[in-house]
Amino acid sequence: MDIVVRNGTVIDPVSLNETRADVGIRNGIFAFVGEGAPKGSLELDASGSLVLPGLIDTHMHFEHRVGDPYTVLRSLLLQGVTTAFAGHCGEGVMMKEYKEWFSQNPVLNMGFMTGASTLRRAVGAEDRYSPANSGQISIMEGLLEENLREGARGLSFGLEYAPGTSWEELSRLARVVSRFSHRLISIHIRSDGHQSPAAVAEAINVARESGVRVQISHLGSMTAFGHSGEALDMIEKARGEGVDVTFDVYPYYAFAARIGSAVYDPGFEERLGKGLESLEVSTGKYKGVPLTPEVFARAREEDPDAYVIAHVMNPREVDMCLLHPDSAIASDAVLRGDEGHPRAAGTFPMGIGILRNAGLSWPEAVRHATSRPAEMMWHKGGRIVEGANAELVVIDPDSYEDRGRFGAPLVAPGGVKWVILNGDVAVEEGEIVGSPNGQILLAE
Ligand SMILES: [Zn+2]
Repeated sequence: MDIVVRNGTVIDPVSLNETRADVGIRNGIFAFVGEGAPKGSLELDASGSLVLPGLIDTHMHFEHRVGDPYTVLRSLLLQGVTTAFAGHCGEGVMMKEYKEWFSQNPVLNMGFMTGASTLRRAVGAEDRYSPANSGQISIMEGLLEENLREGARGLSFGLEYAPGTSWEELSRLARVVSRFSHRLISIHIRSDGHQSPAAVAEAINVARESGVRVQISHLGSMTAFGHSGEALDMIEKARGEGVDVTFDVYPYYAFAARIGSAVYDPGFEERLGKGLESLEVSTGKYKGVPLTPEVFARAREEDPDAYVIAHVMNPREVDMCLLHPDSAIASDAVLRGDEGHPRAAGTFPMGIGILRNAGLSWPEAVRHATSRPAEMMWHKGGRIVEGANAELVVIDPDSYEDRGRFGAPLVAPGGVKWVILNGDVAVEEGEIVGSPNGQILLAE
């Protein structure tokens, strides 16, 4: 064996068993799971620790080229994430670019979504309030098809950021995705707050009409304004009718969006039921500056890409979304340089912690970050079984916790002893070690 993780408690999110076992790894594959593994060239003592499958993040961002663009990947790895899918909320770039960026520093295993807003920009449909015309949509269809052929996992929409997107645009692009197998559409829905139920209904209709799986993005941050229960009921009802709709959730009670985006257009206070006192600029030159109406207007004008954190969601409802048996924990991690929302560094320990505190067993809680997201992406992974790709994380169950905070977002979590990625040790005692060996995960 190359590596043996000895005497840990192996968590299986499918059988829901917690078993005292050794895990042997050879040539990047789990070669032995059970008692009494043969000796490894490297022996890791996991006594008293939990051995989890590598965590899977179905929704994060790897689009921004500000500062060190790989910081966001390292922040996920330090939580135990070994596989991540980028390009959501309409922002995914073309596969050619992703492949180039990824090959320079493959920190994790990664797959990529193509963004509808990127396609809009490519065909000159720049005005977010106007629909793309039929000729523009035809060119977008061609570009999308090309990206799907190059292995994009699907298409993402950021309808709240591109409110001009018409039903024609949605349905024609969805039809292109429907011609490929095992591809999905992720949708950051058209509106949050008090307008979210209609926006959830629209996303469900995309799935119903196209037959393509639709993953509703960060459901908690969109609906936890008195509407999460209703949204979950709508999703359950649609699933009962055979409509393929899934969702992800990040476990924070504050969202982050660019100050210049349509999210903060006039009228947002009514929609969210909260005002400027609940907002904080988290990046750029207005970071931490108290927001008067004048400062807010100036910041939108001068630094529209600055991320503003909005402390506006109802915690009980975010937790309700997370606790739903079909939810996947996903980070929506997005950074500008080393600034942004702490979800980039803390989502997984925080989410698993909330589920554990609600009474779930370790396998039940870990399922929301491993086998459940794997199913949602048709990804083979999320379990420690012989023959599977060797991705795992060893944690101390008593000290695995998020430590990132608003204002100090990138503090790595506690309690992560080792992360093994593709058969090599990638994290040791909370520090990244070795050289990056992530693989690109192209759709087949
Ligand atoms: Zn989003």
